[in-house]
Amino acid sequence: MRLIDSHCHFDAPDFDPDREQLVAAMLRLGVTDLVFPAVARSNWDAIRRFATTSSRFHASYGLHPVYLDQHADTHLQELEHWLRVYQPVAVGECGLDYFLPGLDVERQLVLFVAQLRLARDFDLPLIIHARRSVDHVLKYLRQTGGLRGVIHSFAGSQQQADQLVGMGFMLGIGGTITYERARRLRRIVAGLPDECLLLETDAPDQPDSGWRGKRNDPTRLPVIAAELARLRDTSSLQVAEITTANARRLFGLT
Ligand SMILES: [Zn+2]
Repeated sequence: MRLIDSHCHFDAPDFDPDREQLVAAMLRLGVTDLVFPAVARSNWDAIRRFATTSSRFHASYGLHPVYLDQHADTHLQELEHWLRVYQPVAVGECGLDYFLPGLDVERQLVLFVAQLRLARDFDLPLIIHARRSVDHVLKYLRQTGGLRGVIHSFAGSQQQADQLVGMGFMLGIGGTITYERARRLRRIVAGLPDECLLLETDAPDQPDSGWRGKRNDPTRLPVIAAELARLRDTSSLQVAEITTANARRLFGLT
């Protein structure tokens, strides 16, 4: 069984004490590849450094909406340079966050649309953060056109899922689906078409229900795969085959 964690903040200082042990443990469980989404210019260097240590680690560069106060316009020019020179597997994490208070919407939109254009120009997939903002994200994806990617940690409605899937976008499925209270999401993921499913931990955040309150890490990915299999009335092996093929196709992995 081979699994790919399509969203893991492995450069986070939370992993400094035991990063190597975690890599050994995840490989034993069949988690072979990690995609590292960036959050701000300040962590691109760390991501690049980690990504160069293994062919299993895949970098993505972008400007995350939650870190809005750290982003400067010059970072967009730098992003273009980094996409050209370092050839990451994706643009992101970028997007819109309408949940956290105090994040200027106009400024978020400027940065998001600029990153959509860069992804289109460089023919790269997007890793999108869409919290309480899926309708707006859909609007700008349509407006820009020619895009592909994943809505990470998808938590929207059935109608929003249908629209995203209809545009060829994938949906990131994480630990949230292991919680009984996530009824709507569990119902939606049970019926999604195979070709839009990606697995992710979002580690160190979003631990599954069996890991509540703890630091999440990529060794928890098989738990998410098993729950997705249960909800879809299939096997973990089948979920692994489908999601790994999707991740390889989207990010161009071998
Ligand atoms: Zn993230």
